[in-house]
Amino acid sequence: MITMEKDTKRMDRSEIIAELEQVGGVNTRGNTIKCPYHDDHNPSGGIFQGDDGAWRFKCQTCGVHGDVFDLWKMRTRSHQSQQAFRQGKNNKKRTIA
Ligand SMILES: [Zn+2]
Repeated sequence: MITMEKDTKRMDRSEIIAELEQVGGVNTRGNTIKCPYHDDHNPSGGIFQGDDGAWRFKCQTCGVHGDVFDLWKMRTRSHQSQQAFRQGKNNKKRTIA
């Protein structure tokens, strides 16, 4: 089931770290992450495991927070809007694979 797979991913610490690293986050030590969502000089992001077992990211400075799927959605959304910007509004019918 998709739901189970999704839950497994959310509860896998390495998944959220991989997602954060993909957008430029740096796992400095332990659960401290150099935030990829703002110009972070001192690592102000952190990951923690919630009561439901899912790992979440939270940045103390810019306030970005969420589990691996929230971060993934944020990344794909900004990627799509960048593409739309580059292609111009007239080409919005073109499907992005
Ligand atoms: Zn931040």
